[in-house]
Amino acid sequence: MKNNLTIYNTLSRKKEKFEPINPPFVGMYVCGPTVYGDAHLGHARPAITFDLLFRYLKYLGYKVRYVRNITDVGHLVNDADEGEDKIAKKAKLEHIEPMEIVQKYTNSYHRNTAQLNTLPPRIEPHASAHIIEQAAMAKKILENGFAYEVNGSVYFDVEKYSEKNNYGKLSGRKIEDLISNTRELAGQSEKKNPFDFALWKKAEPEHIMRWPSEWSDGFPGWHLECSVMSTKYLGDKFDIHGGGLDLQFPHHECEIAQSKAANGEDSVKYWMHNNLITIEGQKMSKSLGNFITLDEMFSGKNDLLEQAYSPMVVRFFILQAHYRSTLDFSNKALQASEKGLQRLMKGLETLEKIKPSAETSVDLKSLKEKTFDALNDDLNTPILIAHLFDGIKMINQIHSGDETINNEDLEDLKSFYKLTVFDILGLKPESQNANSDKKFEDAINLLLNIRLEAKKNKDFATSDKIRDELNKIGIIVKDKKDGFEWEIK
Ligand code: ZN
Repeated sequence: MKNNLTIYNTLSRKKEKFEPINPPFVGMYVCGPTVYGDAHLGHARPAITFDLLFRYLKYLGYKVRYVRNITDVGHLVNDADEGEDKIAKKAKLEHIEPMEIVQKYTNSYHRNTAQLNTLPPRIEPHASAHIIEQAAMAKKILENGFAYEVNGSVYFDVEKYSEKNNYGKLSGRKIEDLISNTRELAGQSEKKNPFDFALWKKAEPEHIMRWPSEWSDGFPGWHLECSVMSTKYLGDKFDIHGGGLDLQFPHHECEIAQSKAANGEDSVKYWMHNNLITIEGQKMSKSLGNFITLDEMFSGKNDLLEQAYSPMVVRFFILQAHYRSTLDFSNKALQASEKGLQRLMKGLETLEKIKPSAETSVDLKSLKEKTFDALNDDLNTPILIAHLFDGIKMINQIHSGDETINNEDLEDLKSFYKLTVFDILGLKPESQNANSDKKFEDAINLLLNIRLEAKKNKDFATSDKIRDELNKIGIIVKDKKDGFEWEIK
């Protein structure tokens, strides 16, 4: 398969042809979750975006080493290196060990991402299992003169680094602006400059998650783990680093600075960022009360939700937007996705019923070309899906006899849809669609309540008819003292 993939590199701010450093191998690192709470809508987007890329690269024939980390230490409540560790704070609230919090929410993240049909990464390293490597990298940066130690903590010296390097090149921020914006904060902490960031933090006496080091008993700074674990498993120079747009600054900017300061060069060839999900135009956050976990999405148990949305509806909804666009959640949008997905799956059922003719009257080649052009254009899934729907129209026309297809082309069309819908977009048929199940139950109960009324009015003809007709389609009705029960034969 020829590789025509172009991807938008956040670093160069343009689409670039994807050329791996060492083909057929591709190294891909994606920032995973900080596991201190249930996975939510915001987690679904990067998981699905980079799953799509993983699937497509594998289809193109690459051997992809996909690494996605678990942040289980060092991510403080406040990004400016202050406050409690997010995991330790949650552990206190739930009265359990920090590592129990890590296990609990790692498990639920795995369960939710499996429901969304994302393939597991090849390696899933934990930050807490790489403390020695993080201390070693902090030491190297210190020895190279880009960090300083104060009271047992080690901070990255952004001003020093900026003398010969461009701190801000990923996010577009300028060091001069950072200096003027934070001037009044200077001198309020032990850092030389407020925008310096921790490589190693000395732990306060009450801080539970701590490790010994040559500077103090403490813990690594949040940004350091990704510099360390990406290069440990993918080499000093690797292909793709991904994550949510909210991580671009400071997290990824700091990663670039750390790697350069330690090794003298950037480690990443392509930086990719998925945009964020908003809820009816607002940022999703606990404080705004518009926070929706994935379990709530799938069960419908959240006041913001009018119904349950199945994992495949959520996946399809996310794929219907380009990963670099914002995506606004609303019940209306999700319901439209649900209908769209049903239409797509129905089309695939129709495809299976088609009988081949002697000749083909439809243009399969152009459908396939346009679909892959969209995918190659920085994973343009909304356009790709639009072409798949054009193809469904074509399928319906063949089925109704307005167009024809020969046997060979029919098999080709079937494998094209299997490849794009199931293997690349990662959708799967949901025989048990939670929402239509509920509607089905409601409809049967409605019929049986009408039957109860008929019985009350001594209209036994109607009452028996409802029971017998349901029986014929395989629904067995049992009369009870206080009403009825039914089951599917
Ligand atoms: Zn990261």
